[in-house]
Amino acid sequence: MIYLDYCANTPALDEVLETFVKYERLYTGNANSAHPAGFAAKQALDDIIAETAEMLHVLPEEIILTSGATEANNLAVKGLCAAAKHVGKHILSTALEHSSVSASLTALQAAGYEIDLIPLDSEGRIDLAEMRDLIRSDTCLVSLSTVESETGVIQPVEEIAEILKEWPDCRLHIDATQAMGKIPVDFSCGDTLSFAPHKFFGLNGVGVLVKKKGISLVPQMSGGESTTIWRSGTPALALAASLVPALHDALDDLYEHMEKVNSLNAQLRAALARIPEVRINSPKHAVGNILNISVRGINGHEMQKLLAERDICVSVKSACSSDLTPSRSVMALTHERKRALEAFRISLSWRTAKEEIDALSEAIASIVEVRR
Ligand code: PLP
Repeated sequence: MIYLDYCANTPALDEVLETFVKYERLYTGNANSAHPAGFAAKQALDDIIAETAEMLHVLPEEIILTSGATEANNLAVKGLCAAAKHVGKHILSTALEHSSVSASLTALQAAGYEIDLIPLDSEGRIDLAEMRDLIRSDTCLVSLSTVESETGVIQPVEEIAEILKEWPDCRLHIDATQAMGKIPVDFSCGDTLSFAPHKFFGLNGVGVLVKKKGISLVPQMSGGESTTIWRSGTPALALAASLVPALHDALDDLYEHMEKVNSLNAQLRAALARIPEVRINSPKHAVGNILNISVRGINGHEMQKLLAERDICVSVKSACSSDLTPSRSVMALTHERKRALEAFRISLSWRTAKEEIDALSEAIASIVEVRR
């Protein structure tokens, strides 16, 4: 099988699995319990949080563990707005957000919030001048992703954070889920930042929300006061521990991984350039691990099935979307409905082999040949 859907999920590294098993075997107690087994679990959790914080250059008390990026995004978007009601009910975001952000915004809209989507330039980047024009004194939140998951568009997060310094009551949430381990992520930007390690060879079931010290947030989970007041529930100690080796791999070897992936991306773009029916939807500046393309005359879902028959895994929007709805992100970038219906995503990793890129481009060429 040729797996080219690393943006959806990655296989766990051996050291990640070993760490998970080690902690699961070693610790019996609930970190919230006031007895020796609980104290041992709490100490282990504190050590994990301290190491995670050090790697991200944030404070330990700024780390909130969640079940994944979806929960982290829900907590940030809804929790920041609930804490900033005195500021107003106006939110800025983009058409390039993951459903965990866009659906949270839809829920807020139903509760009376006004949402404005910031116009994008031809490369999918936020138009900073338009953003300046849209910010108002009642804007309580700007929510955006560093890297968009379908096309790999990278937003100028540092510049956006700089503009927002003029609006101290407006919070900035950054969804860094597709950026971690792909490009450097500066955790000094933004009031809250989310990510999940299953996108960078860690395990599913754990996520992180970094919430800067002093930023008000209303917890979204009802329950007892846990190791953190921001998120109730028994801390998943072994999952938290498994985050550390995944982060080490993603951050320590970042530039090495980027170089390898960028060279695979160049190989793929060169091979696809020989197929006239292929149109590249990802802009030039996009992250190297994502290449979104459309093949003229073939629906993206159909292409996914045809490639699956050849044992190649690629993705089309979200797994549960229908054949008749165009990709929202590709629509936002190209404004072409047919092209957005034909779009699909190839996502690479540093583990991808050159031979897998050859096999994919040959498969696309042969599928196209049959259709000519
Ligand atoms: N944000 C972005 C940009 C994503 O790509 C994803 C998942 O694909 C998520 C959030 C949600 O992540 P999780 O599956 O950990 O809930």
